[in-house]
Amino acid sequence: MAKSSTYDLVVVGAGVFGSWTAWHLARHKQKVLVLDAYGAAHARASSGGETRIIRMSYAADEIYTRWSHRSLVQWKALAASSGQPLFQQTGVLWMEGEDIGRLKQSQRTLERCGIAHQSMDNATLSERYPQVNFDGVTRGLLEPDSGVLLARRGVQTVIEEAKKKGVEFRIAQISMPKGSGPLAKISTSEGEAISADQFVFACGPWLGKVFPEMLGQRIFPTRQEVFFFGSPPGDVRFAPPALPTWLFNNDEVYGMPDIEFRGLKMARDTHGERVDPDTQSRIPSAEGAEWARNYVARRFPALKAAPITESRVCQYENTSTGDFLIDRHPEIPNVWLAGGGSGHGFKHGPAFGEYLAAQLLGEQKAETRFSLASKATQQNRTVH
Ligand SMILES: Cc1cc2nc3c(=O)[nH]c(=O)nc-3n(C[C@H](O)[C@H](O)[C@H](O)COP(=O)(O)OP(=O)(O)OC[C@H]3O[C@@H](n4cnc5c(N)ncnc54)[C@H](O)[C@@H]3O)c2cc1C
Repeated sequence: MAKSSTYDLVVVGAGVFGSWTAWHLARHKQKVLVLDAYGAAHARASSGGETRIIRMSYAADEIYTRWSHRSLVQWKALAASSGQPLFQQTGVLWMEGEDIGRLKQSQRTLERCGIAHQSMDNATLSERYPQVNFDGVTRGLLEPDSGVLLARRGVQTVIEEAKKKGVEFRIAQISMPKGSGPLAKISTSEGEAISADQFVFACGPWLGKVFPEMLGQRIFPTRQEVFFFGSPPGDVRFAPPALPTWLFNNDEVYGMPDIEFRGLKMARDTHGERVDPDTQSRIPSAEGAEWARNYVARRFPALKAAPITESRVCQYENTSTGDFLIDRHPEIPNVWLAGGGSGHGFKHGPAFGEYLAAQLLGEQKAETRFSLASKATQQNRTVH
């Protein structure tokens, strides 16, 4: 006879959003099962890999500044309770070219939210960070308290801590059954039936595959390549505290100093081609590597001949604007859609999970920016 089990909530997807949602639900004494097709923050997940930036500047988008600030507190608490170095306070430096409008907006938001920051002109930047070429940069904004999260280790730690609170975790693939009206149960690929009061699909770049008609054209998974460059032997200018995490807005390029001796990380924030997260090639392109080499040589002249020590191919799971998707399924009231991290979601995992848990338990008003209705089928990015 096929096995069957019953829960208050089932969360499908153990990326950063699903795992923090489960963690918060467990805090509310809910009986929770987390399922993932491959494992927590696995190599193909958007939450996989070594590191992610946590920064507070979002121009005038105060909601994300506040969520990031709130999330950092929870990431730090998790680091303290688990004894893992999940947050590294490198500082985050934003740089702008001629038009410093967004930087000024960020500065005003940070001031309103009481977040420490320091604005610097080109001469000050060049004096403080002589290992960087600031050509074309008019101003920089440093967030001294921000930094880097350890991504894969962070998500796996959230799952471990959630398990201590009673959450169950299993590897299994789920297909969304057809039909409308409340969902009584889902079935795993192994044929096990799982009943629950509510179901959360936190499937990241897979959301369009799980709900092809509704989300196939509303979640845009794009290929993103990441490179790590090795410093010359004995050279600590590209590691913290000498170099902060950095974002050159005009160039749409970001990176971070050498964390855990893996090398200086850099990546382009421009969206790559549309990809399938199950099957896309994880081997970086020759053009991508060449572009990265040239860029690093220009911005960090001492790394002109630096070797690429590691690389990684991941995918963003963009919504039309970059705003998250956190909403009830329009036809199946006990099914929730959760994702749309859009290349900036990782840091927000704790606040996302806290918000979604409150929604699931009927304790908080919904934010319209996260609604399904606000997600279009054409990309028009406004959140950066
Ligand atoms: C290269 C890169 C750099 C980034 N940099 C930053 C950064 O610096 N700062 C930042 O804040 N954010 C950053 N992001 C964005 C951030 O990492 C993502 O927005 C976030 O990790 C998305 O998490 P998720 O939980 O939605 O998705 P995922 O981590 O992909 O998790 C979804 C999970 O659902 C599972 N799943 C899917 N379908 C099924 C199914 N049918 N059955 C069972 N399981 C299923 C998958 O196996 C997967 O594990 C970056 C992303 C990339 C790719």
